[in-house]
Amino acid sequence: MNHLFRALPSVDVCLSEVLRHAPELQAQPRPLLREAVTAYWDMRREDIRARRLSEAEQLALAAHLPLLLAHVRAALRPRLRPVINATGVVVHTNMGRSVLAPEACEAVLRAAQGYSTLELDLTTGGRGSRQTLTEELICRLTGAEAAMTVNNNAAAVLLVLDTFCRGGEVIVSRGELVEIGGSFRIPEVMAKSGAHLREVGATNRTHLRDYAAAINENTRALMRVHTSNYRIVGFHEAVPLEEMVALARQHDLPVFEDLGSGSLTDFSACGLPNEPTVPSVLAAGADIVTFSGDKVLGGPQAGIIAGSRERIAALKANQLTRALRCDKLTLAALEATLRLYCDPDSARERIPTLRMIFLSAETLSRLARRLAARLRRTLGATCRVSLRDGVSRVGGGAFPQYDLPTTLVCLQPTACPATQLRQRLLDGNPPLVGRLDEQAFCLDPRTLREQEYGLVARLVHNALNERTQP
Ligand SMILES: *Cc1c(COP(=O)(O)O)cnc(C)c1O
Repeated sequence: MNHLFRALPSVDVCLSEVLRHAPELQAQPRPLLREAVTAYWDMRREDIRARRLSEAEQLALAAHLPLLLAHVRAALRPRLRPVINATGVVVHTNMGRSVLAPEACEAVLRAAQGYSTLELDLTTGGRGSRQTLTEELICRLTGAEAAMTVNNNAAAVLLVLDTFCRGGEVIVSRGELVEIGGSFRIPEVMAKSGAHLREVGATNRTHLRDYAAAINENTRALMRVHTSNYRIVGFHEAVPLEEMVALARQHDLPVFEDLGSGSLTDFSACGLPNEPTVPSVLAAGADIVTFSGDKVLGGPQAGIIAGSRERIAALKANQLTRALRCDKLTLAALEATLRLYCDPDSARERIPTLRMIFLSAETLSRLARRLAARLRRTLGATCRVSLRDGVSRVGGGAFPQYDLPTTLVCLQPTACPATQLRQRLLDGNPPLVGRLDEQAFCLDPRTLREQEYGLVARLVHNALNERTQP
C-alpha cells in the first residue's frame, strides 16, 4: 500500500494542472483551492485503504483530472448562487422571493460600492435618520401620515406588539392565528413580545360582539392578521375592518393590521380576488399596517410599517428598532422599487414580480410554444415535449389557492423517469427547479425569462445525457 500512497501526485502539481484547465478558478483563495485538492486525494487514500484502488497507474493525475476538476469546482462554488425557477410560483420563498427591478439592482450596487447618505443629514453634516430615506415614498403611496422600515414583516409585527401591547392583551380572531412557513406564528410572536393573546370567535366565524365581549381594562389593541397562506371557504364570516375600527374607537383602542403580502396594486385585472391593499386598509381606519417588502410588493426583504404620526414616532423610539433596522443595501433597493410605484404602469412593467403576475394566458401560451420548440430542437428523440394547460401561483402566502392560468411545457424522457430528470436538474449548474405533474417534469414559462430558454434547453440536454455515476 505504501508504494501506492507514494504514487499520489503532489498538491502543488495538481493545483497548477487544475488552474491550467480551469483558469476561472485563479481568482479563488489559494487556501480553499488547496483544501479542495487535498480533500479529493484524501478520498482516494480511502479507496486505497479499502482496496478499491490497487494499481499505481490508476493514480495518474491525467486519469483523475476530470473528476478532480469537478470536485474542486463544486467545492469552490458559492453557496448562495443563482437557480432557474421554472415552477411558476412567482414569490418563491425558497428561491429568494422577489426578483428586483433593474433600477433596484443598480441602486444596491451604487450603495454597496461607496459611502452614502444612509444616516447623513446634508443640511448639518451631522447624523440623520435612515428612516427618512423611504418614509416619504411610503406615505405618498399608502396615504399614511408616517412610516418606517425594519428587517422583515415578522420584525414589524414584533416591534408593534412590543411597543404597544407588552403586558396587556391583544384580541385576535381564532380564524386568523396563522403560521407562516413554520417559523412565524402569531401566537408565538405575541408571546415573545410579552403581549397576551386573547382569541375570540370560532375558526370559521367571528362576530363583532365576540370582540366587544373580550374587551377589558387590560386590552391594548385589536389585531387583524391577513390569512395569507390559506383560505376559509364555505360557512365563514369575518368582521369588516370599518366595524372593528368603530368598536375600537369607542374604547379608545388601536387596530393593527398585519397584511402580510401588503400590495399597492389591484390584482383583480388578472383574475385574482380584490384583496385589501395597504391604502384601502389605512383608509378604513387601521392605526397601523405592517407588510413585507419582498412579497407582492416586489422589493427587497423588509418589513414596512405605516400608520399615524404618533404611533410611528413611538415605534421609532423603541430600543428594539436598532436591532431590527434595515441595512443600506435593502434601503437602496426599497427606495428604487417604491419610486417605480409612483407611476403604476411603469411599476407593472419594470418590477419583475408584478410583470410575472400580470402575464396573460395568451402571452404564456405563446412563450410555452417558443420554449417547447427550442427544447425539441435541442433534445431530439431523448425526450417527449408537450404542452398542457396548467396553473401558476403567486406564492409567498399571497392569494392562497387562487390559480393563474398558464401553459406548461411537459418533459417525458424516453430513457429515465421524470423524477430522475428532476433530480439531475437540481444537481445541474445552475440548478433548474420545475415541478412534477402526472409522470412529467413541467416547466412554467411564467417565472422564466426568455433569455434563459437556451440555457434551460442546455441544462435539460446535459441532464438527459449525463451518464450515471459508477
Ligand atoms: C409573510 C407574512 C409574515 C412574515 O413576513 P416576513 O416578511 O416573511 O417576515 C407575517 N404575517 C403575515 C400575515 C404574512 O403573510
